[in-house]
Amino acid sequence: MSTIIDEFSFDHPENKGYGKSKRLRLLSSSNPQFSTIEKQFYKGWKHPNKPKPKVHAIFKILSPDSILRPYHRYRALILSSPALRNRTKNPANEQLLFHGTNRHCTLAEDGSRIRLCILSKCNLCSVIRNSFDVKKCGTKHKFRRFGTGIYTTACSSKADDYALNADESTKLRVLLVSRVIVGNPHKRRQNATGLTEPPCGHHSVVGEPGIDLNYEETVVYDNDAIRPAYLIVYGDTPTSKSKFRSLVTALFKTPLAA
Ligand SMILES: [Zn+2]
Repeated sequence: MSTIIDEFSFDHPENKGYGKSKRLRLLSSSNPQFSTIEKQFYKGWKHPNKPKPKVHAIFKILSPDSILRPYHRYRALILSSPALRNRTKNPANEQLLFHGTNRHCTLAEDGSRIRLCILSKCNLCSVIRNSFDVKKCGTKHKFRRFGTGIYTTACSSKADDYALNADESTKLRVLLVSRVIVGNPHKRRQNATGLTEPPCGHHSVVGEPGIDLNYEETVVYDNDAIRPAYLIVYGDTPTSKSKFRSLVTALFKTPLAA
C-alpha cells in the first residue's frame, strides 16, 4: 500500500531525512501547530502553586506507517460505534492530551538532541519508539485510579508531576502530547481501580474533578487508541532558552520576537 498514512509518517514528503532513531522534527514557532499546542499547554496549566513555565520548543514525533496504521484502523472501528452516530464534528472525538514520564537521557534538551536513546529504563524514548503499552501501566505508580489503562490529561501541570528527569545534566522538562481517540467517554468522579476496559458502549474513562480527583484525566484501555504526536520542552532556565532560540533562528531563518 503506497498511500501516506498521515502527517506524522516518515513517508510524508515534509518529513524527508527522518527515520528509525531520528524521530523528532523541530517545529518553527511560526508554525500554526506550535501555537495550538503552546496555547493548550498554558490553558491546561492549572495548579495555582506552580508558576507557569516557559515553552522552549515543540517537536513533532514521527513514526513508521507500521506504528500509525493500527491507530487508523482503531479509529475506523470506533467511528462505526452507534454511540457516535450523531457526532459530526471530530467524529471519533480525537483529542491532544498530555502525558508525563521519566526521561533517562538528554533527548530534546536542545534542538540537536533528536536521537532516541537505547536505555531500557527510559520510558520517554520507549514511548516515542513504540508508542504506549497498557501492560506497562502502573509499573511506576502502584495506585491506578481507573484501573489498567493508559493515562493522559488535558491538565499540563498535572502531567508535569510525572515528568521526571533522571539525567542530572538536564535542566528542561518534557511532556508528550498524544493523539487520543476518546470516542464516547464514560465520565466519572469516583475511583474505579479494578477497570481493565471501559464500560460497555464507551471507549474511554474520563475522570472529572469533584469527589476523588482535583484535575481531569482521560484513560484508554487499548494500545491502538493513542499515539504520541508532539514533545513539548519547557522550563525556566535562561541559558537553555538561548540555545533553542539560536537554533530555531538558524533553521528557519525567521527573526524571533525578543
Ligand atoms: Zn531516552
